[in-house]
Amino acid sequence: MRENDFDNLLELLASPASMPADAWRRLLAEPDYGQRRQLALLARGVAQSNFSTGVYVRALIEISSYCRNNCNYCGLRCANKLAQRYRLGKDEILGCCRFAATLGFNTFVLQGGEDPVQGDEWLADVVAAIRSEFPEKAITLSVGERTSEGYSLLRNAGADRYLLRHETANAGHYSMLHPHSMSQANRLRCLADLKRLGYQVGAGMMVGSPGQTAEHLVEDLMLLDELQPQMIGIGPFIPATGTPFAGEQPGSVELTLQLISLLRLRFPKALIPATTAVATLCDDGTERAVLAGANVVMPNVTPPSYCEKYTIYDNKKNNGSESAQQLDVLAGKLDKIGYFIDYSRGDFNGGSSARSAVK
Ligand code: SAH
Ligand code: SF4
Repeated sequence: MRENDFDNLLELLASPASMPADAWRRLLAEPDYGQRRQLALLARGVAQSNFSTGVYVRALIEISSYCRNNCNYCGLRCANKLAQRYRLGKDEILGCCRFAATLGFNTFVLQGGEDPVQGDEWLADVVAAIRSEFPEKAITLSVGERTSEGYSLLRNAGADRYLLRHETANAGHYSMLHPHSMSQANRLRCLADLKRLGYQVGAGMMVGSPGQTAEHLVEDLMLLDELQPQMIGIGPFIPATGTPFAGEQPGSVELTLQLISLLRLRFPKALIPATTAVATLCDDGTERAVLAGANVVMPNVTPPSYCEKYTIYDNKKNNGSESAQQLDVLAGKLDKIGYFIDYSRGDFNGGSSARSAVK
């Protein structure tokens, strides 16, 4: 792309003006190697001006591998007979929180399949117990689609944040990735409910999911501009054994990194994780994501005998710097690139994008 055009697009990206589809299209497809490098450098600068060289850590607790849903991409889908199932009890979850607290974490993330045994009331009881024992910590949930009442119950019990990726902004593509029982309309209803209830909300998509086109990614970026989420989680699609997409190709790490940079430039203050999926496909994926503008890592504190069964995709990384016991490994990796672990709660702070200033 001509330097002039590129500079104009960068200016637009950082401004409160809306981004036309064609601007996203060009920023995704046209930058040459040097311009992609420039994008990463600019995004890194924006992240550093907001978060210094700190990377927030969240303790990830995978509370259940049972799921009533049947998403075509996910190894935990209910039809996958090869999946190994487990669920943590209330005491085990509290035990994980205590362990995480001794390691210095100030955010717990409870993630799991949509396990009918871990219904709203049960989970609200667990959240309330965590809240009462750890009044100062942030509690994040990532347990799928629920009713408005369910989200409200969980919020009142003390949950602060909720991660629910929109997965894809294109309705046709959504239907290709999910069974008929799921609809994009319901996913968007969930995200609207979560926002209305005062959660800090995380949306996002897989990169390179089967059937995804460049145009779908443009739609994703436009939807994110509408949603104004406080957190944006993206990671490459990775095939999972026993699913309809087992034979598909994984998504591109390079494209994921480019998207992280674009998101950082558009949403300067958003919480953007260096996801496990990036680290799974690429040994120095965490470092590269941070250098592209990510500012969150979610080490796993689930007991190893369980977390090896939480196989949303194949070869999911759960040791090395992805494991909390190895926080020093993570600190070492970050130190090598000039970053440090920031143990504070790391709440979203301020308008998530230049655009939010006009909303
Ligand atoms: N059940 C919850 C949380 C667990 S799945 C939910 O669906 O929201 C969390 C995320 O993992 C999903 O949002 C999806 O984007 C991601 N995921 C699932 N299968 C994947 C795969 N095969 N490759 C990469 N990411 C995947
Ligand atoms: Fe269940 Fe989430 Fe996997 Fe879908 S992505 S099958 S809701 S765990």
